[in-house]
Amino acid sequence: MDRPANHDDALAEVLEQYWGFDTFRPLQREAIDSVLAGRDSLVILPTGGGKSLCYQAPALAMPGVAIIVSPLISLMKDQVDALKLSGAPAAFINSSLSSEERRKVLQQVRTGEIKLLYAAPERLVRPQTLNFLRSVDVSFVAIDEAHCVSTWGHDFRPEYTELSLLKQALPGVAVHAYTATAAERVRQDITQGLALRDPQMLIGPFDRPNLVFRVRRATRKLDQVQEVIDRHPGESGIVYCISRNEVESVAASLKSAGVRAAPYHAGLGDTARARNQEAFLKDRIDVIVATVAFGMGIDKPDVRFVVHAGMPKSLEAYVQESGRAGRDGLESECLLLYKGSDAVLWRRMIEEGEPAALEGALRSLGEMMRYTTSVGCRHQAIVEHFGQSLDRHNCGACDYCLDELSFADEPLINAQKIISCVARLEQRFGASHTAKVLAGSKDQNVTRFNHTTLSTYGILKHEHGTTIRDWIEQLVGQGHLAKVGEYGVLQITTSGREVLRGETTPQLLAPAKRVKESRARTKE
Ligand code: ADP
Ligand code: ZN
Repeated sequence: MDRPANHDDALAEVLEQYWGFDTFRPLQREAIDSVLAGRDSLVILPTGGGKSLCYQAPALAMPGVAIIVSPLISLMKDQVDALKLSGAPAAFINSSLSSEERRKVLQQVRTGEIKLLYAAPERLVRPQTLNFLRSVDVSFVAIDEAHCVSTWGHDFRPEYTELSLLKQALPGVAVHAYTATAAERVRQDITQGLALRDPQMLIGPFDRPNLVFRVRRATRKLDQVQEVIDRHPGESGIVYCISRNEVESVAASLKSAGVRAAPYHAGLGDTARARNQEAFLKDRIDVIVATVAFGMGIDKPDVRFVVHAGMPKSLEAYVQESGRAGRDGLESECLLLYKGSDAVLWRRMIEEGEPAALEGALRSLGEMMRYTTSVGCRHQAIVEHFGQSLDRHNCGACDYCLDELSFADEPLINAQKIISCVARLEQRFGASHTAKVLAGSKDQNVTRFNHTTLSTYGILKHEHGTTIRDWIEQLVGQGHLAKVGEYGVLQITTSGREVLRGETTPQLLAPAKRVKESRARTKE
């Protein structure tokens, strides 16, 4: 594809007129160049990395209309409103429009008045829409939240799988995909699922060094949330809860404790939701207590803390939600509070959801649990998940590197007890059953399999069940045990055998109150 030289001038003009940014964020320039050159691309940037500029700016600089696919009506509306506000000719077609309004938009596209047309995937792939697109000058197609095409990812949407029809219907038009999910398998699914042709791969830096990550077991949840709020008087923060009920109860408790807080969830009704969001953005309240419904498209630069009062369903979701802290680059705090029952709750929701996404969703949940229970640098764990590595040994910005974790006594002996039990169970059972045997449980399955007679039965009975479960996950995280198959059957690895022989000593966290109180890096 050729690339007229005047594109560059047009781009400079557009950037100046509509944005006024003086520098590019990492990879934005490269991503824009791909679009101008008409070469398919896959752009992976973290949340807040500035993906929208990568297609919006060239859309305004190139002749024709750019088609932008977005999964959510609200997201589309936010972007189009923002573009219109700065005078850019943008519009959307989705199910919220009347047929009259839709006709009007398409007419404006035909006459070249509209430069950015946002559309929902299911509408775009209808034969009449594709016919229409063939009859106009399409500059390129941009697909936002492209990971939705992959069942391997955390947010599979079946309607995305039809999008390869675009490539068939518009063979000469470049397609550009954007996402914050970088798993290798998701990358492959996007390339294949959207039929990208030798796409340029642009993968951005995922580390956010100004975020301090901590994970704690939720032992006194409200107090733990309140402690974070107390460290940030008069500053903005988000508290994420898994359920609407919990949002309501946490918000009410905080308010009665004198915190300027408000709830946000999909059950609230548009007016109340908009009012509370506005109050948060305008600093009339400090804390928004919300479900995951809050945050998409919200860009408040000075969020100083994000507390998760429950474990999210995937590490992608966690990174996205916690990543709403500290967009201005200043130090901010991210605390994840978890209970064993969080995973049970998610598992149930996943099993009731989209069947095609079941396997991917369960794997994502497993990765989240791994992060939650792991013993090691949190920044390292996050960037590794995105296929990158940290350039420093001690991040200085997580509970592990700040030396806030307390470790269990006798880790070698405890680990040996656990791994021997896996051996006695002939490596045929999962973490939950193994923990029951170690705890000396009278559970039906334990008695039915005669596991009460094993030499390892009850050898950790003085420990709490959750501690044993955590230790098993920690051994998995450190590679001494592996979970295989659908049921997560525990297997002993080579290094697990070294532990049995006493040649390697794992790290196990102290039970219950796992965290020493530390004032490191918190506000003075
Ligand atoms: P993403 O879609 O990757 O999550 P956005 O496109 O919403 O990110 O951009 C996040 C924020 O960063 C927006 O407020 C946007 O205006 C801002 N932004 C994007 N690019 C730049 C830039 N080059 N300089 C300054 N701010 C930018
Ligand atoms: Zn660290």
